Amino acid sequence: MNHDELNHWSKRAADWAQAYHAGLRERPVRAQTRLGETAAKLPALAPEKAEPMEQIFADFEAIVPGATTHWQHPRFFAYFPANASPASMLAEQLANAIAGQAMLWQTAPAANEIEAVMINWLRAALGLADDFTGTIHDSATTATLSAILTMRERTLDWKGNTQGLSALPRLRIYASGETHSSIDKSVRIAGIGQDNLVKIPTNADHAMDTQALDAAITNDLAAGFLPCGVVACVGGTSIGASDDIAATIAVAKSHGLYTHVDAAWAGSAMICPEYRHLWDGINAADSLVFNPHKWLGAQFDCAVQFLKNPTEQINTLGLRPEYLNTLGQDEVTNYNEWTVPLGRRFRALKLWFTLRAYGLEGLRTRIRNHINWGRECHDIISEMDDFTITTAPAFSLFTFRYKDSDAATQDLLARINDDGRIYLTQTRHAGQFVIRMQVGQFDCTREDVMMVPCVLKDLTGGQ
Ligand code: PLP
Repeated sequence: MNHDELNHWSKRAADWAQAYHAGLRERPVRAQTRLGETAAKLPALAPEKAEPMEQIFADFEAIVPGATTHWQHPRFFAYFPANASPASMLAEQLANAIAGQAMLWQTAPAANEIEAVMINWLRAALGLADDFTGTIHDSATTATLSAILTMRERTLDWKGNTQGLSALPRLRIYASGETHSSIDKSVRIAGIGQDNLVKIPTNADHAMDTQALDAAITNDLAAGFLPCGVVACVGGTSIGASDDIAATIAVAKSHGLYTHVDAAWAGSAMICPEYRHLWDGINAADSLVFNPHKWLGAQFDCAVQFLKNPTEQINTLGLRPEYLNTLGQDEVTNYNEWTVPLGRRFRALKLWFTLRAYGLEGLRTRIRNHINWGRECHDIISEMDDFTITTAPAFSLFTFRYKDSDAATQDLLARINDDGRIYLTQTRHAGQFVIRMQVGQFDCTREDVMMVPCVLKDLTGGQ
């Protein structure tokens, strides 16, 4: 395939994409396929001879869409969204065409400088203080890992990277049980160890009990551990729980600990000033992550980390062998030094396109609609026979249960997703199996959301 053929096939792909998105409502949301079915349709070995693109494209159409869970389906209410606004898809096409590698300023000046400006735009859009700067990672997991490595190294005066951890007292990190498993994964990868992630109990609001946090840190210090940081959450994955950010950070700071806030999903909602009380105190955080690829419409992957003092993270993650020097320009910002991988995609372009194509007003309207429709749907389900609301709406996320039974709830969830009109997933809350629903898909309408109680009624014969 050459570039002329690429032009032809790009137009075919654009036509295909248009028809695909227009027809999404006719498709079942979750892939209706059996394990191994797709792999069985592919030959065991790569072809020796080139194959015509007509055949490759035909196979794509025959094999892939039918075995795909449609994340851009307007009735995707599972997990959290991975939204791709049309403007961000276009930006990704252009970034793919350039196919650059933005590890250094000089390897991608436009990408580097647009990234810096997008961080400023988003900082202002979220109402954050001017002394935050930041970078774009692939995922919230990478941002959290970067923050946890920075907590570790700051505590060790940056000696862990060179001397290792084996001769040291055990390091400690604190978080509530409502934080995402990426925190557990990060403490494992950082060599701190899962047993040294202290899970602090939560209060009746599902927020970290800050007195218990204070006591845990004090006890650990007395026992010879080395506390290094606290991870708080705003809009946790399971039920949307939020910590009291001001109180949590105050406790952490009173012990000199680094703080990182995971707002991967709910951070996008902070473009609406009326939700910002849910992260009061955020400006005192050392680090904060949110994923525009979840709720803001900037296609996966796009995770923004804001930092108070990037030098601490650069001292932790940055390495500059001779071949990565920018000759004559030592002061330049090279974002690879702020993150784990060296190579970086041009992720800022989709933010630039998305923020301009919809405007903050347009994005706010979407998020407000999602939250209002989610609450309306919650109110209907709360009135339905045999259904119990298990957690109230947090932003646009709530959970419910059927016939107050794990088995009945699990069976209903399987039937919902086999039915295909909507897609919901589960969590475990207070020891119970519950169905979770969030509203956040970029193109969903009120009618799409109201389909949820309709499906529940259809499948249970309920009122
Ligand atoms: N934090 C929260 C609250 C999440 O919900 C998720 C994923 O859903 C993550 C972190 C991990 O996100 P990523 O896939 O960007 O690593």
